[in-house]
Amino acid sequence: MLRSGLPQCGQALSCYGMACGPALIDRYGRAISYLRISVTDRCDLRCRYCMAEQMTFLPKDRLLSLDEMALIGERFIARGIRKIRLTGGEPLVKRDVIDLVRRLGRHVGAELDELTLTTNGTRLAEHAEDLVDAGVRRINVSLDSRDPDTFRFITRHGDVEQVLGGIAAAKAAGLAVKINMVALKGLNEAEVAPMLGWCVEQGFDLSLIETMPLGAIDEDRTDRFVPLTQVFEDLQAPFELVRDPHNSGGPARYWRVAGTGTRLGLISPLTGNFCASCNRMRMTTEGLLYMCLGHDDRVDLKAALREGGLAAVDAALERALAAKPEAHDFRIAAGATPAVARHMSVTGG
Ligand code: SAM
Repeated sequence: MLRSGLPQCGQALSCYGMACGPALIDRYGRAISYLRISVTDRCDLRCRYCMAEQMTFLPKDRLLSLDEMALIGERFIARGIRKIRLTGGEPLVKRDVIDLVRRLGRHVGAELDELTLTTNGTRLAEHAEDLVDAGVRRINVSLDSRDPDTFRFITRHGDVEQVLGGIAAAKAAGLAVKINMVALKGLNEAEVAPMLGWCVEQGFDLSLIETMPLGAIDEDRTDRFVPLTQVFEDLQAPFELVRDPHNSGGPARYWRVAGTGTRLGLISPLTGNFCASCNRMRMTTEGLLYMCLGHDDRVDLKAALREGGLAAVDAALERALAAKPEAHDFRIAAGATPAVARHMSVTGG
Protein backbone atom coordinates (compact mmCIF):
# COMPACT_ATOMS: atom_id res chain seq x y z
CA MET A 1 0.00 0.00 0.00
CA LEU A 2 1.13 3.55 -0.64
CA ARG A 3 1.60 5.73 2.38
CA SER A 4 -1.45 7.73 3.36
CA GLY A 5 -1.86 10.96 1.46
CA LEU A 6 -1.68 14.64 1.98
CA PRO A 7 -1.93 16.59 5.19
CA GLN A 8 -4.84 18.99 5.06
CA CYS A 9 -4.14 22.70 4.90
CA GLY A 10 -7.58 24.21 5.05
CA GLN A 11 -8.91 25.11 1.64
CA ALA A 12 -5.66 24.77 -0.20
CA LEU A 13 -3.73 21.62 -0.97
CA SER A 14 -0.39 21.16 0.72
CA CYS A 15 2.09 18.47 -0.25
CA TYR A 16 3.84 17.16 2.81
CA GLY A 17 4.19 20.55 4.40
CA MET A 18 4.89 22.46 1.20
CA ALA A 19 2.53 25.25 0.27
CA CYS A 20 0.59 25.21 -2.97
CA GLY A 21 2.82 26.62 -5.67
CA PRO A 22 1.97 29.12 -8.39
CA ALA A 23 0.07 27.92 -11.44
CA LEU A 24 2.13 26.39 -14.21
CA ILE A 25 2.20 28.99 -17.00
CA ASP A 26 4.76 28.65 -19.78
CA ARG A 27 6.59 31.44 -21.63
CA TYR A 28 3.88 31.53 -24.33
CA GLY A 29 1.19 32.11 -21.69
CA ARG A 30 -0.23 28.59 -21.90
CA ALA A 31 -1.55 27.26 -18.58
CA ILE A 32 -0.56 23.65 -17.97
CA SER A 33 -3.53 21.89 -16.44
CA TYR A 34 -3.18 18.34 -17.72
CA LEU A 35 -0.55 15.76 -16.79
CA ARG A 36 -0.11 12.36 -18.36
CA ILE A 37 1.85 9.81 -16.40
CA SER A 38 3.22 6.77 -18.15
CA VAL A 39 3.21 4.33 -15.25
CA THR A 40 5.14 1.66 -17.16
CA ASP A 41 6.76 1.38 -20.59
CA ARG A 42 5.84 -2.33 -20.71
CA CYS A 43 2.84 -3.62 -22.62
CA ASP A 44 1.25 -7.02 -23.15
CA LEU A 45 0.51 -6.18 -26.82
CA ARG A 46 2.92 -5.19 -29.60
CA CYS A 47 0.87 -2.94 -31.91
CA ARG A 48 2.83 -2.65 -35.16
CA TYR A 49 2.63 1.14 -35.47
CA CYS A 50 3.62 1.58 -31.82
CA MET A 51 6.41 -0.88 -31.03
CA ALA A 52 8.92 -3.18 -32.64
CA GLU A 53 8.30 -6.87 -32.03
CA GLN A 54 11.43 -7.17 -29.91
CA MET A 55 11.37 -4.21 -27.55
CA THR A 56 13.91 -3.39 -24.88
CA PHE A 57 12.19 -2.05 -21.80
CA LEU A 58 13.66 0.10 -19.04
CA PRO A 59 15.46 -1.78 -16.28
CA LYS A 60 13.34 -1.83 -13.13
CA ASP A 61 15.98 -0.04 -11.04
CA ARG A 62 15.57 3.10 -13.18
CA LEU A 63 11.84 3.43 -12.49
CA LEU A 64 10.06 5.69 -10.05
CA SER A 65 8.36 3.82 -7.25
CA LEU A 66 4.57 4.16 -7.14
CA ASP A 67 4.97 6.29 -4.04
CA GLU A 68 7.31 8.67 -5.89
CA MET A 69 4.86 8.83 -8.79
CA ALA A 70 2.09 9.72 -6.37
CA LEU A 71 4.22 12.36 -4.63
CA ILE A 72 5.11 14.03 -7.92
CA GLY A 73 1.52 13.72 -9.15
CA GLU A 74 0.30 15.41 -5.98
CA ARG A 75 2.89 18.16 -6.40
CA PHE A 76 1.50 18.79 -9.87
CA ILE A 77 -1.98 18.94 -8.35
CA ALA A 78 -0.74 21.50 -5.84
CA ARG A 79 0.60 23.51 -8.81
CA GLY A 80 -2.79 23.63 -10.49
CA ILE A 81 -3.01 20.48 -12.61
CA ARG A 82 -6.76 19.65 -12.93
CA LYS A 83 -6.61 16.44 -14.94
CA ILE A 84 -4.32 13.41 -14.77
CA ARG A 85 -4.28 10.55 -17.24
CA LEU A 86 -2.46 7.33 -16.40
CA THR A 87 -1.12 5.60 -19.45
CA GLY A 88 1.87 3.59 -20.63
CA GLY A 89 2.87 1.08 -21.95
CA GLU A 90 -0.15 -0.63 -20.53
CA PRO A 91 -1.05 0.90 -17.17
CA LEU A 92 -3.04 -2.13 -16.01
CA VAL A 93 -0.03 -4.47 -16.31
CA LYS A 94 1.80 -2.41 -13.67
CA ARG A 95 1.75 -4.26 -10.35
CA ASP A 96 -0.28 -2.43 -7.66
CA VAL A 97 -1.25 0.36 -10.05
CA ILE A 98 -4.65 0.50 -8.34
CA ASP A 99 -2.89 1.84 -5.22
CA LEU A 100 -1.68 4.80 -7.28
CA VAL A 101 -5.15 5.27 -8.77
CA ARG A 102 -6.64 5.30 -5.26
CA ARG A 103 -4.10 7.77 -3.97
CA LEU A 104 -4.57 10.25 -6.83
CA GLY A 105 -8.29 9.49 -6.99
CA ARG A 106 -8.80 10.98 -3.55
CA HIS A 107 -8.34 14.44 -5.09
CA VAL A 108 -11.10 13.96 -7.68
CA GLY A 109 -13.97 16.34 -7.11
CA ALA A 110 -11.73 18.69 -5.12
CA GLU A 111 -8.38 19.85 -6.54
CA LEU A 112 -8.61 17.45 -9.46
CA ASP A 113 -11.43 17.53 -12.01
CA GLU A 114 -10.59 14.18 -13.47
CA LEU A 115 -8.41 11.11 -13.09
CA THR A 116 -8.59 8.86 -16.10
CA LEU A 117 -6.59 6.26 -17.95
CA THR A 118 -5.84 4.93 -21.40
CA THR A 119 -5.73 1.16 -21.64
CA ASN A 120 -5.66 -1.59 -24.23
CA GLY A 121 -8.48 -3.26 -22.28
CA THR A 122 -6.87 -6.69 -21.85
CA ARG A 123 -7.10 -6.45 -18.05
CA LEU A 124 -10.15 -4.25 -17.74
CA ALA A 125 -12.47 -7.06 -16.73
CA GLU A 126 -10.52 -7.60 -13.51
CA HIS A 127 -9.95 -3.90 -12.73
CA ALA A 128 -13.07 -2.02 -13.87
CA GLU A 129 -14.83 -1.97 -10.49
CA ASP A 130 -11.66 -0.99 -8.61
CA LEU A 131 -11.18 1.91 -11.01
CA VAL A 132 -14.69 3.17 -10.31
CA ASP A 133 -14.19 2.78 -6.56
CA ALA A 134 -10.97 4.77 -6.82
CA GLY A 135 -12.65 7.76 -8.48
CA VAL A 136 -12.18 7.06 -12.20
CA ARG A 137 -15.29 7.95 -14.22
CA ARG A 138 -14.12 7.74 -17.84
CA ILE A 139 -11.53 5.68 -19.66
CA ASN A 140 -10.08 5.48 -23.15
CA VAL A 141 -9.73 2.01 -24.60
CA SER A 142 -7.62 1.40 -27.68
CA LEU A 143 -9.35 -0.80 -30.22
CA ASP A 144 -8.10 -0.60 -33.79
CA SER A 145 -10.27 -3.44 -35.06
CA ARG A 146 -13.16 -5.60 -33.90
CA ASP A 147 -12.24 -8.29 -36.39
CA PRO A 148 -10.32 -11.07 -34.54
CA ASP A 149 -7.79 -11.66 -37.35
CA THR A 150 -7.11 -8.00 -38.06
CA PHE A 151 -6.82 -7.29 -34.33
CA ARG A 152 -4.37 -10.16 -33.89
CA PHE A 153 -2.35 -8.95 -36.88
CA ILE A 154 -2.15 -5.33 -35.67
CA THR A 155 -1.33 -6.24 -32.06
CA ARG A 156 0.84 -9.22 -33.17
CA HIS A 157 -0.93 -11.64 -30.77
CA GLY A 158 -3.91 -9.93 -29.09
CA ASP A 159 -7.31 -11.54 -28.51
CA VAL A 160 -10.09 -9.12 -29.40
CA GLU A 161 -12.66 -11.07 -27.35
CA GLN A 162 -10.64 -10.40 -24.19
CA VAL A 163 -10.67 -6.65 -24.96
CA LEU A 164 -14.38 -6.62 -25.85
CA GLY A 165 -15.06 -8.44 -22.56
CA GLY A 166 -13.04 -5.78 -20.73
CA ILE A 167 -14.98 -3.01 -22.44
CA ALA A 168 -18.28 -4.66 -21.51
CA ALA A 169 -17.10 -4.93 -17.88
CA ALA A 170 -16.14 -1.25 -17.88
CA LYS A 171 -19.55 -0.28 -19.19
CA ALA A 172 -21.29 -2.49 -16.63
CA ALA A 173 -19.21 -0.91 -13.84
CA GLY A 174 -20.48 2.51 -14.91
CA LEU A 175 -17.36 3.85 -16.66
CA ALA A 176 -17.88 6.12 -19.65
CA VAL A 177 -15.86 4.67 -22.51
CA LYS A 178 -14.10 6.34 -25.38
CA ILE A 179 -12.64 4.08 -28.04
CA ASN A 180 -9.30 5.11 -29.56
CA MET A 181 -8.74 3.83 -33.09
CA VAL A 182 -5.59 4.51 -35.11
CA ALA A 183 -6.46 4.69 -38.82
CA LEU A 184 -4.15 2.32 -40.68
CA LYS A 185 -4.02 2.15 -44.46
CA GLY A 186 -4.83 -1.29 -45.82
CA LEU A 187 -5.70 -2.63 -42.35
CA ASN A 188 -8.74 -1.03 -40.77
CA GLU A 189 -9.91 1.80 -43.05
CA ALA A 190 -13.02 -0.14 -44.00
CA GLU A 191 -13.84 -0.66 -40.32
CA VAL A 192 -14.05 3.00 -39.35
CA ALA A 193 -17.72 3.50 -40.26
CA PRO A 194 -18.81 0.19 -38.63
CA MET A 195 -16.76 1.10 -35.54
CA LEU A 196 -18.57 4.44 -35.28
CA GLY A 197 -21.92 2.64 -35.70
CA TRP A 198 -20.97 0.21 -32.91
CA CYS A 199 -19.93 3.09 -30.63
CA VAL A 200 -23.31 4.76 -31.24
CA GLU A 201 -25.07 1.50 -30.34
CA GLN A 202 -22.99 1.05 -27.18
CA GLY A 203 -23.14 4.70 -26.09
CA PHE A 204 -19.36 5.17 -26.47
CA ASP A 205 -17.35 8.04 -27.94
CA LEU A 206 -14.81 7.38 -30.67
CA SER A 207 -11.49 9.11 -31.34
CA LEU A 208 -9.71 8.46 -34.60
CA ILE A 209 -5.95 8.95 -34.56
CA GLU A 210 -3.33 9.49 -37.27
CA THR A 211 -0.12 7.48 -36.87
CA MET A 212 2.63 9.65 -35.42
CA PRO A 213 6.34 9.29 -36.13
CA LEU A 214 7.43 8.23 -32.65
CA GLY A 215 10.16 5.63 -32.19
CA ALA A 216 11.57 3.08 -34.60
CA ILE A 217 9.29 0.18 -35.52
CA ASP A 218 9.77 -2.77 -37.87
CA GLU A 219 8.05 -1.10 -40.84
CA ASP A 220 7.80 2.31 -42.50
CA ARG A 221 4.85 4.20 -40.98
CA THR A 222 4.31 6.10 -44.23
CA ASP A 223 2.93 2.89 -45.71
CA ARG A 224 0.14 2.89 -43.12
CA PHE A 225 -0.52 6.62 -42.84
CA VAL A 226 -4.08 7.71 -43.62
CA PRO A 227 -4.94 11.43 -43.39
CA LEU A 228 -8.06 11.78 -41.25
CA THR A 229 -9.40 14.45 -43.60
CA GLN A 230 -10.06 11.60 -46.04
CA VAL A 231 -11.51 9.28 -43.38
CA PHE A 232 -13.80 12.07 -42.22
CA GLU A 233 -15.10 12.68 -45.74
CA ASP A 234 -15.99 9.00 -46.01
CA LEU A 235 -17.98 9.17 -42.75
CA GLN A 236 -20.19 12.02 -43.99
CA ALA A 237 -22.37 9.75 -46.11
CA PRO A 238 -23.42 7.19 -43.47
CA PHE A 239 -23.57 9.66 -40.54
CA GLU A 240 -24.85 13.15 -39.95
CA LEU A 241 -21.94 14.81 -38.14
CA VAL A 242 -22.40 18.11 -36.36
CA ARG A 243 -19.39 20.16 -35.24
CA ASP A 244 -18.98 20.11 -31.44
CA PRO A 245 -17.13 23.02 -29.83
CA HIS A 246 -15.62 20.78 -27.10
CA ASN A 247 -11.90 21.48 -26.72
CA SER A 248 -9.58 19.30 -24.66
CA GLY A 249 -6.59 21.58 -25.27
CA GLY A 250 -5.06 18.86 -27.41
CA PRO A 251 -4.95 17.82 -31.03
CA ALA A 252 -8.54 16.55 -31.21
CA ARG A 253 -11.40 18.29 -33.00
CA TYR A 254 -14.87 17.00 -32.24
CA TRP A 255 -18.19 16.23 -33.90
CA ARG A 256 -21.46 14.80 -32.63
CA VAL A 257 -23.26 12.01 -34.38
CA ALA A 258 -26.60 13.81 -34.75
CA GLY A 259 -29.38 12.44 -32.58
CA THR A 260 -27.03 10.31 -30.45
CA GLY A 261 -24.82 10.77 -27.39
CA THR A 262 -21.70 9.81 -29.34
CA ARG A 263 -18.90 12.28 -29.85
CA LEU A 264 -16.40 11.70 -32.65
CA GLY A 265 -12.88 13.07 -32.16
CA LEU A 266 -10.29 13.43 -34.88
CA ILE A 267 -6.73 13.49 -33.57
CA SER A 268 -4.64 14.68 -36.46
CA PRO A 269 -1.31 16.05 -35.25
CA LEU A 270 0.11 15.79 -38.76
CA THR A 271 -2.64 17.47 -40.72
CA GLY A 272 -3.87 19.82 -37.99
CA ASN A 273 -2.17 22.32 -35.71
CA PHE A 274 -3.03 22.28 -32.02
CA CYS A 275 0.07 23.57 -30.26
CA ALA A 276 -1.24 27.08 -29.50
CA SER A 277 -3.72 25.63 -27.00
CA CYS A 278 -1.47 22.87 -25.62
CA ASN A 279 -2.17 22.47 -21.90
CA ARG A 280 -0.22 19.31 -21.13
CA MET A 281 3.01 17.73 -19.99
CA ARG A 282 3.98 14.09 -19.85
CA MET A 283 6.01 12.19 -17.27
CA THR A 284 7.63 8.87 -18.03
CA THR A 285 7.84 5.93 -15.66
CA GLU A 286 11.44 6.91 -14.87
CA GLY A 287 10.41 10.44 -13.93
CA LEU A 288 11.46 12.32 -17.06
CA LEU A 289 9.08 15.16 -17.79
CA TYR A 290 8.56 15.86 -21.49
CA MET A 291 7.03 19.19 -22.32
CA CYS A 292 6.09 18.19 -25.88
CA LEU A 293 5.32 14.81 -27.44
CA GLY A 294 7.31 15.81 -30.51
CA HIS A 295 10.50 17.11 -28.87
CA ASP A 296 13.30 15.56 -26.85
CA ASP A 297 13.72 18.35 -24.26
CA ARG A 298 12.94 17.11 -20.78
CA VAL A 299 13.66 17.62 -17.11
CA ASP A 300 14.49 14.87 -14.66
CA LEU A 301 11.95 14.90 -11.82
CA LYS A 302 13.23 11.65 -10.31
CA ALA A 303 16.69 13.13 -9.79
CA ALA A 304 15.13 16.33 -8.46
CA LEU A 305 12.90 14.48 -5.99
CA ARG A 306 15.64 12.16 -4.77
CA GLU A 307 18.27 14.88 -4.44
CA GLY A 308 16.28 17.87 -3.21
CA GLY A 309 12.72 16.77 -2.40
CA LEU A 310 9.64 18.67 -3.53
CA ALA A 311 11.44 22.05 -3.50
CA ALA A 312 13.77 20.69 -6.17
CA VAL A 313 10.77 19.32 -8.08
CA ASP A 314 9.31 22.84 -8.08
CA ALA A 315 12.61 24.25 -9.38
CA ALA A 316 12.64 21.59 -12.12
CA LEU A 317 9.07 22.57 -13.07
CA GLU A 318 10.22 26.17 -13.59
CA ARG A 319 12.90 24.88 -15.98
CA ALA A 320 10.27 22.79 -17.74
CA LEU A 321 7.98 25.79 -18.23
CA ALA A 322 10.84 27.86 -19.64
CA ALA A 323 11.74 25.09 -22.06
CA LYS A 324 8.26 24.04 -23.32
CA PRO A 325 8.51 24.51 -27.10
CA GLU A 326 6.03 26.59 -29.03
CA ALA A 327 5.12 23.73 -31.39
CA HIS A 328 5.92 20.16 -32.33
CA ASP A 329 7.63 19.33 -35.57
CA PHE A 330 5.94 16.16 -36.77
CA ARG A 331 6.41 15.22 -40.37
CA ILE A 332 5.76 11.92 -41.97
CA ALA A 333 7.71 11.22 -45.13
CA ALA A 334 8.84 8.04 -46.80
CA GLY A 335 12.05 6.73 -45.24
CA ALA A 336 12.30 9.65 -42.79
CA THR A 337 13.61 8.96 -39.30
CA PRO A 338 10.96 9.35 -36.58
CA ALA A 339 10.49 12.91 -35.22
CA VAL A 340 11.61 11.63 -31.84
CA ALA A 341 13.43 8.40 -31.02
CA ARG A 342 11.28 7.37 -28.07
CA HIS A 343 8.14 5.34 -28.60
CA MET A 344 4.65 6.49 -27.65
CA SER A 345 4.75 3.74 -24.99
CA VAL A 346 7.55 5.61 -23.19
CA THR A 347 5.94 9.03 -23.09
CA GLY A 348 2.39 7.75 -22.87
CA GLY A 349 -0.32 8.31 -25.46
N1 SAM B 1 -1.57 0.54 -23.64
C1 SAM B 1 -2.50 1.61 -23.63
C2 SAM B 1 -3.35 1.58 -24.88
O1 SAM B 1 -3.20 0.68 -25.70
O2 SAM B 1 -4.21 2.44 -25.01
C3 SAM B 1 -1.93 3.00 -23.42
C4 SAM B 1 -0.68 3.37 -24.15
S1 SAM B 1 -0.82 3.51 -25.89
C5 SAM B 1 0.81 4.05 -26.27
C6 SAM B 1 -1.84 4.95 -26.04
C7 SAM B 1 -2.38 5.24 -27.39
O3 SAM B 1 -1.34 5.60 -28.25
C8 SAM B 1 -3.11 4.08 -28.05
O4 SAM B 1 -4.39 4.53 -28.44
C9 SAM B 1 -2.26 3.78 -29.26
O5 SAM B 1 -3.05 3.33 -30.31
C10 SAM B 1 -1.63 5.11 -29.54
N2 SAM B 1 -0.36 5.05 -30.28
C11 SAM B 1 0.75 4.36 -29.99
N3 SAM B 1 1.73 4.61 -30.89
C12 SAM B 1 1.23 5.50 -31.76
C13 SAM B 1 1.75 6.17 -32.90
N4 SAM B 1 2.98 5.99 -33.31
N5 SAM B 1 0.92 7.03 -33.56
C14 SAM B 1 -0.35 7.25 -33.12
N6 SAM B 1 -0.89 6.65 -32.04
C15 SAM B 1 -0.12 5.79 -31.37
